[in-house]
Formats: sequence, C-alpha cells, structure tokens
Amino acid sequence: MKKQLMRQMWCEKPGQLELRYNPIFEVGDDDVLVKVAYTGICPWDVRAFSGKSSVAFPRVLGHETSGHVAAVGKNVTHVQVGQPVVADFIVKCGVCRACRRGRPNRCQNPTYQQFGGGYADYVRLPAKNIYPLKPETSLKAAAFMEPLACVWRGQRMLQLQPGDVALVVGVGPIGLMHAQVARRFGARVIASDVLPERLQKARELGADWVVNPQETDLKTFVQEITEGWGLDAAVVAVGSARLVEQTLTLLAPGGRLNIFAGVYPRDELRIDPNLIHYGEYVLTGSADSAPEDMQRALDLIEGGLVNTESLISHVLPLEELGRGFELVKHREGLKIMIEVA
Ligand SMILES: [Zn+2]
Ligand SMILES: [Zn+2]
Repeated sequence: MKKQLMRQMWCEKPGQLELRYNPIFEVGDDDVLVKVAYTGICPWDVRAFSGKSSVAFPRVLGHETSGHVAAVGKNVTHVQVGQPVVADFIVKCGVCRACRRGRPNRCQNPTYQQFGGGYADYVRLPAKNIYPLKPETSLKAAAFMEPLACVWRGQRMLQLQPGDVALVVGVGPIGLMHAQVARRFGARVIASDVLPERLQKARELGADWVVNPQETDLKTFVQEITEGWGLDAAVVAVGSARLVEQTLTLLAPGGRLNIFAGVYPRDELRIDPNLIHYGEYVLTGSADSAPEDMQRALDLIEGGLVNTESLISHVLPLEELGRGFELVKHREGLKIMIEVA
C-alpha cells in the first residue's frame, strides 16, 4: 500500500523554510496522531528561525497546536479518533530530579519534537502529552494552551491578592494574557506598552489603566494611582534588563516581580540590594510550564475566564509561515495563527 503523505514546513537552517511532503508518522502503542488545525507562532519560534537560539537544525518548528485525533496506539484510552485536542510538544522524562521534585518544566532530559513540530498536517506525541478538549471549545482559542500555561505559572509566582495593583510591562499576546489572569486573581491591572494599538487591546480586555511610558512618567503615574504606595506586583514580559531595573523601583513594600521573558543578548542587572532588603521584595522568574499549568490554562480557556481567541490578528495558511514570522519579528498585529487545512 502506498504511504499517505503529509505537508511539513521544514526549516533546514535558520532563515530558510521549505514545504516538504513526507510519509505520515507511524503510531506507536502509546502515541496519538493529531491532524493539525491551528498552530500559533510564538516569539520562541521566531528567535529559533533567526538563528538566535541554540536549537538544532534541520527542524520543523511550531509548538502551540490544536487539532483532531487522527489515530491512537493500542494502549491509549483517554482520547478517541475524531476528538478535538491540544498538544504539549515537550516530553518530560518523568524520572529526573526536576520531574520528581515538582518542576517538570525544568526536566533534565526532555525530548523535543525536532522533526515533528506543529507547522505540519500531522503531529505525533505520546498520549500523556495530549489534552482532550470539550466538543464546543474553539480550536483557535485552545491553541493558546502552552503560552497561557507559561503565563499562569508566572502569575502564580506573584501571589496576588484581591485589591493588589499589578503592572504588566509589555502587552503583546503574552502580556495581554498576564493582564487577564492578574484580574482573575482580583488585582487591578496597569498595562504598559509603547504601541498604542496594544494599549487599546489591553483596555478592551479589562486593564484598569493603560500607560505609554514614552509619553507618561511611569513612576509618577504609579505613585498617583496608588497614593504613594507603589506596585504590589509586576511582571516584565519584555526581555530587557533595563525594564526589570526600572520596574523594581516601582514596587511597594513586599512587592513581587516576575522576570517572565528571557533576555537576549545576555545582560546584567544593576540593582541596589538595599531596595530588595528594606523593601522586602520578592524577585522571581518563571520559565516554560508543567503539565498542571497546561491543564489550568485549558480550564481558563474552556471556562471563558481568559479570552485568547481575540488576541489573534492574522490567520495565515501554512505556506505563509515565513510571512507570519516577519510579522511577529516586526511586532505587527498580535498573535499570528497558522491555519493548517
Ligand atoms: Zn510558545
Ligand atoms: Zn525529567
């Protein structure tokens, strides 16, 4: 029997994309084959594509995927053929110290889908990496599970209480999810960005205040609305050491700050340690997400508690992935979704 072919957008080396036809994956006993519906473009993909990260090539990028189950291995029981699902593309080993100490997001032996990313007709993953969706859930909204899981993890670090004032620095798709989750914790949210259209979107999605720090002095603004108290919490969703330093000076006593974005190229922080000491600040980071964060993210999406679908500015066909990467690189629009159909 002739093998059926699928399309995959291969990235042979940074900056080079090629649509190829390859045989559809064989399904092992514990695997699920997913027919891809949507895969979001993540800044991580764009950084990898630009050759600015250490990932190996050639590869098929894409790790924010929703779709339908196309086939299951004989040991798979939690999903059935035809069911809508979302995929988590990093397979954690489950036995390393990080996995066993409750930080599987920092797994020491993870398996990446180097040749099986989501910019393709099909992906194949172990069953434990497949999350079933309710039939009525939007596949576009659900494709945000992975980035929202990372956001959820970062927000948890902030220990928000109702009435807290929280700042989100940078309201691209990620920051806009931070703002929504912070509001769900009962915080009042300030959104800061230099792009007016992003501030407008933050306002639509419920930010209590929006500020362009190029037009308004952020420190004066924070002092005014908090009557001199400062921020109870802040998340820096832009990879910038300077923004971390500046944001730290806005915190109230006991303030928490999450460094959510990686900083490239490498940089250093210059912080007066007395700020942290006398302010009793908590400086945290968060990176990637654990399966429990994924499930939480899905619950937030399916429960209508975080609006992800409205973050999509462009839906492009697989052939236009390169254009999508360009849009993200130049911060045009918001979330770019690849529709694989
Ligand atoms: Zn991502
Ligand atoms: Zn592990």
